[in-house]
Amino acid sequence: MSKEKRRREALVYHAKPQPGKIKIVPTKPYATQRDLGLAYSPGVAEPCLEIAKDKDNVYKYTAKGNIVAVISNGTAVLGLGDIGPEASKPVMEGKCLLFKIFADIDGIDIEIDTKDVDKFVETVKMIAPTFGGINLEDIKAPEAFEIERRLKEELDIPVMHDDQHGTAIISAAALLNALEITKKKIEDVRIVISGAGAAAVSCTKLYKAFGASSKNIVMLDSKGVIRSDRDNLTGEKLEFATDRKIDTLEEAMVDADVFVGLSIANIVSPEMLLSMANNPIVFAMANPDPEIAYEIAYKTREDIIMATGRSDHPNQVNNVLGFPFIFRGALDVRATKINEEMKMAAVKALAELTKAPVPEQVNIAYGETRLTFGKDYIIPKPFDPRLISEIPPAVARAAMESGVAKLPIEDWDKYREELLQ
Ligand code: NAP
Ligand code: MG
Repeated sequence: MSKEKRRREALVYHAKPQPGKIKIVPTKPYATQRDLGLAYSPGVAEPCLEIAKDKDNVYKYTAKGNIVAVISNGTAVLGLGDIGPEASKPVMEGKCLLFKIFADIDGIDIEIDTKDVDKFVETVKMIAPTFGGINLEDIKAPEAFEIERRLKEELDIPVMHDDQHGTAIISAAALLNALEITKKKIEDVRIVISGAGAAAVSCTKLYKAFGASSKNIVMLDSKGVIRSDRDNLTGEKLEFATDRKIDTLEEAMVDADVFVGLSIANIVSPEMLLSMANNPIVFAMANPDPEIAYEIAYKTREDIIMATGRSDHPNQVNNVLGFPFIFRGALDVRATKINEEMKMAAVKALAELTKAPVPEQVNIAYGETRLTFGKDYIIPKPFDPRLISEIPPAVARAAMESGVAKLPIEDWDKYREELLQ
């Protein structure tokens, strides 16, 4: 499809038959005078009084427990940069659509017109009573780190900045599986991370939680290798600084087992790929164009395992594999947080699911004859119907075991059945 044709299709899709991608629909009868007297005055006073007596009753009598706010200030939208709150709205509505279709969560998009961290945090805190959870989205680093940290500390509902953790969770699942295929141990592999922004920092933290060793990691930003003797390093970057006396990507790639790109297009050359260790794992996730084009990478090395952010190649690191199901599990046990244990449980569940036989309907949906665990299938596909019954229970269980679930699940079989409805 030509670029111009795609542009026009996208605009018509958003404009017709009514502008936007989401709407709100009532869930109770509203046909008679009696119905209205219950839905609104005078009947509505009764649940108000119950909630006034005990705040937790808000989960019993209102939609709070199934609503997630998708909140942005439009400062880092897709790869488009700081385009402002209004211009970010189609993305936030899109995220709400995905919450709905994949996990039956009602997403409500909120665009906030401020770049000031204090004001942003204050605003979200003040509107938090409405929501069961908060998905922060497309907020520029380093502000995004502080905003998320403070909101997690100060709110008692799950908060997650998806650009950081979504990518980390999906790529970590892909990494565990790629390592299994290549028979390498996460503790031993040499990892090069290109990029030191929101996504790269959070990915690297999660890989470390799974055993990756600081001494084997080299991270680069736009100025080159982040060395511990470099001036003016921010706290986030300092954590990943290397003691090795190297400066360039070219040097870092020699004998590396894993390359993780969360930076910009076309910075990895075939020569760099050739200098990597055997069976190199290359996750080139810059969007829309990866750090090295898929075709070039494969032509250069047959023993490569590659993932990108794109849907037109195998192994797409797509955040939709994570956030709907993670919030589903968190909401269902009324978790007060999305903590490391829950994220790691999601990673393991995604990695395991990839290894189970793939249902025929997934093959059909993706026009594949036979998807099987291997180099070209290291993470599940988004339209896999098993995601909804496998990932939320894993997350919910981790919330319970780590002590952040206010409403533990007792009957797991019943819960799985409910998820499939
Ligand atoms: P970000 O916060 O703006 O970070 C971008 C980082 O890239 C910065 O640390 C920047 O360095 C670094 N950088 C720029 N040029 C570089 C170069 N030549 N070599 C090495 N590093 C360089 O953005 P982000 O949200 O982390 O996203 C980064 C990229 O990953 C984007 O292309 C995004 O689309 C992609 N991404 C993909 C997925 C996915 O596939 N699922 C998910 C998330 C993000 P400085 O710190 O020096 O500015
Ligand atoms: Mg995003």
